[in-house]
Amino acid sequence: MKYVDEFRDPDRARALTHEIRRLVERIARTRGGLERPLQIMEVCGGHTHSIFRYGIHQMLPPEVEFVHGPGCPVCVLPMGRVDDCVALARRPEVIFTTFGDAMRVPGSSTSLLKAKADGADVRMVYSPVDALAIARANPHREVIFFGLGFETTMPGTAMTVLQAHAGRVENFSLFCNHITIVPTIKAILDSPDLRLDGFLGPGHVSMVIGTRPYRFIAEQYRRPITVAGFEPLDVLHSVFMVLRQIAEGRSEVENQYARIVPENGNAQALSAIGQVFEPREFFEWRGLGSIEHSGVRIRDAFAAFDAERKFPVANLQLADPQACQCGEVLKGVIKPPQCKVFGTACTPDRPLGALMVSSEGACAAHYRYARIDTSALTAAAAVCPGPAPAALRVQA
Ligand code: SF4
Repeated sequence: MKYVDEFRDPDRARALTHEIRRLVERIARTRGGLERPLQIMEVCGGHTHSIFRYGIHQMLPPEVEFVHGPGCPVCVLPMGRVDDCVALARRPEVIFTTFGDAMRVPGSSTSLLKAKADGADVRMVYSPVDALAIARANPHREVIFFGLGFETTMPGTAMTVLQAHAGRVENFSLFCNHITIVPTIKAILDSPDLRLDGFLGPGHVSMVIGTRPYRFIAEQYRRPITVAGFEPLDVLHSVFMVLRQIAEGRSEVENQYARIVPENGNAQALSAIGQVFEPREFFEWRGLGSIEHSGVRIRDAFAAFDAERKFPVANLQLADPQACQCGEVLKGVIKPPQCKVFGTACTPDRPLGALMVSSEGACAAHYRYARIDTSALTAAAAVCPGPAPAALRVQA
């Protein structure tokens, strides 16, 4: 299939991993050895999913490690905001509309999915435009759309608010939880225990904002960044490009995903965002705390479509459950299986922390794809050609 097969070619993947090994050897030679593995943060949850799904982390030499960043918007949604959603959804006049993966995010006592089971009118939609259509079809109900996501989903929400405004759809509003990527990367770079050597930049967000906003990473923080695509060869090629910068002593913004990402972004999408949204002073992130200017709210001109002004919203700040170590995973301090409750009290069926909810969450991706230790298969196949062994080891 065009644009798929050529990005999954095993021969090219082998060639790239060979080149990556050579670059790592060159970096180690220049530095007189490596004291610790080179750490590359993939900012985007889509990359986290690709890395585990295709086993890309297992193809790299041990001197290169991925750190799974905060780029899954469902995963970083704080519990207090989920509680606010549930409270809004339980109002009798409200039809609460949301993307499907947000329905399972645990709040302090329940989720939207459980609220729906208990009778709240919660409906899954594929787009904010679907929510607007529900509002038009139900003029005597209040329809709230749960807007969340980075700059990738923000233009669609902004354009829907503009449509609602133009069509005077008075029973539609937005519970805005949109977040922005640049202040978040800056907060990570400012953290005192920063050990990152480079970044894979988010492909989808960059499609909207372009590559220019990342220049501060290279210029002020002297870290290389490569905006990356999502197919296995995209990710491997981007790792190669980051390592090549390190080997050559450069820190620049490079664009591996140029077939999709323009340098200046998408002017129409940015214009819609600018018309409807303005930065919030602070926004709370699960596991990362409050980050300055990392979220947006609806501008006064569109206040009539702001669910936070139309309905009472508690906006409580709640601590995560004590056993939950999502924050440490998000900062790269521990790997998902090192969390005390990984695979026991916290599984995709019964998530305790948000990183286990979405398929883009580091813990869910690790649980689904990385628990099988394929070395058992390889070793058994070597001594006993024939059918694969029945039992593969599963890493807890
Ligand atoms: S296993 Fe669960 S609680 Fe632990 S870090 Fe992952 S999502 Fe959070």
